[in-house]
Amino acid sequence: MGTELLIVGGERVSSASGATFQVIEPALGTPMAEVAEADGEDARRAIEIAHRAFEEGPWPRTAATLRGRVLLRASTIVRERLEELATIEARNVGKPIRDARDEMGIVADTLEYWGGAANKIFGETVPVQDPGLDVTLREPAGVCALITPWNFPLAIASWKIAPALACGNTIIVKPATYTPLTVLALAEILIEAGLPPEAISVLPGPGSTVGNALVDDPRVAKISFTGSTAVGSEIMARAARNITRVSLELGGKSASVVFADAEMDTAVERSVWAVFGNCGQDCCARSRLFVERPAYEEFVERLAKRTAELRIGPPLDERTEIGPMISQDQRRTTLDYVALGIDEGARLVRGGKIPEVPGGEGGAYVEPTVLADVDNRWRVAQEEIFGPVVCVIPFDTEEEAIRLANDTTYGLSGSVWTRDVGRAIRVAKGIRTGVISVNSSHSVHTEAPFGGFKRSGVGREMGMHAVNLYTEVKNVFFSQA
Ligand code: NAD
Repeated sequence: MGTELLIVGGERVSSASGATFQVIEPALGTPMAEVAEADGEDARRAIEIAHRAFEEGPWPRTAATLRGRVLLRASTIVRERLEELATIEARNVGKPIRDARDEMGIVADTLEYWGGAANKIFGETVPVQDPGLDVTLREPAGVCALITPWNFPLAIASWKIAPALACGNTIIVKPATYTPLTVLALAEILIEAGLPPEAISVLPGPGSTVGNALVDDPRVAKISFTGSTAVGSEIMARAARNITRVSLELGGKSASVVFADAEMDTAVERSVWAVFGNCGQDCCARSRLFVERPAYEEFVERLAKRTAELRIGPPLDERTEIGPMISQDQRRTTLDYVALGIDEGARLVRGGKIPEVPGGEGGAYVEPTVLADVDNRWRVAQEEIFGPVVCVIPFDTEEEAIRLANDTTYGLSGSVWTRDVGRAIRVAKGIRTGVISVNSSHSVHTEAPFGGFKRSGVGREMGMHAVNLYTEVKNVFFSQA
């Protein structure tokens, strides 16, 4: 097992300290790679290079069309190498290979979208009173630090990397310690596609050292973070010292609201995937499932039955639908929450145990779990578990459903299930989240804005809204006198 080195200014290098760490394969609990571990010194070196590349280098000065072509070429390479990247991601996160393939497709789509978008980022002409011409320019923000989580490592990284580069920034990516491998591979793909090497660094390492060094440095113009609300809040506070721009994609406790008139087969099927997909490690997981009382008992029964049918198994098995969790710690937290929910009064309808997976004894497998008769005020219904646990809660009226869905500190995502169009519109408008889907569990589209209300975040990624995150608006006035 060779060591995966850091990428600093496009070059593979050891960390300044010489330290390394092991990346664990969650299905087995054994190491799959050894990776150089960056710290503050590596961060400062990367910032110096990125800063110089921004101030003097070619990338911010390259015509937008040519920047776009680099991203388009990178998209093609990702599609050519899709199976290889998907296999690394599946092994590293523990996610089913079929899901990993879909995610690599999203990465390619995202690069393609921004490849096309790069030369469509326009300013405005403004009808000011003073005689002359007033225009706005969209200028790149500068050095961008992109800090990412482990649940969708490359997909989420691509939602930051592609728009940041399309807008002409130089970037430093800090992937989650658990999952640095595919991000390192993408950086090399971008360089192969024509990105000037000094425009990109990738620094695997702990948030407490390399993360803090990126956040604290005044040469970093912009921090784009996806992760937990606790860390997001800390980053926002630290960034305030230098007035560094911050956008945050944080946690969630999203609601699905199922009315009795919904098309039940689809509502049950999609509700299962909306919370158990990626083993529940999804910021958009619909982990609170509100069901109108007349349909409640039947829905709980069907949900439990469908949950029991899910195929838990090793990530690389084509039949697997649910893989292991990322770590033993994460599994412990999940099982603790199940115990807490039962303690609080929930009815355990399905799951809640460690399943037997042949050959997976060292893996962090856990059964998808259905807790029914939950009260929305309980901790199990209020705190993000980030594991495969759904809380099912009955309701009686539309107003009550909206009130309960909104009774949370989070505001990321949600679903409404009904055949009544008027009701769908009222509930979709009433729920305070950044994204909501009607008769669907879809949360994220490459072309549409994504982000959270309340403690789920600040700013909108994806679609052309992301331009706001990676540019500064400059107003230029030309006098005609
Ligand atoms: P995390 O907050 O522990 O870590 C996220 C990243 O921040 C990692 O790279 C980590 O090393 C880094 N980090 C940690 N401390 C830091 C610090 N002080 N300074 C700078 N960087 C630091 O989150 P996680 O466990 O990797 O991911 C799970 C969380 O992410 C969940 O809460 C989930 O809801 C959230 N999430 C949100 C979205 C979204 O788009 N809203 C998407 C995926 C995950």
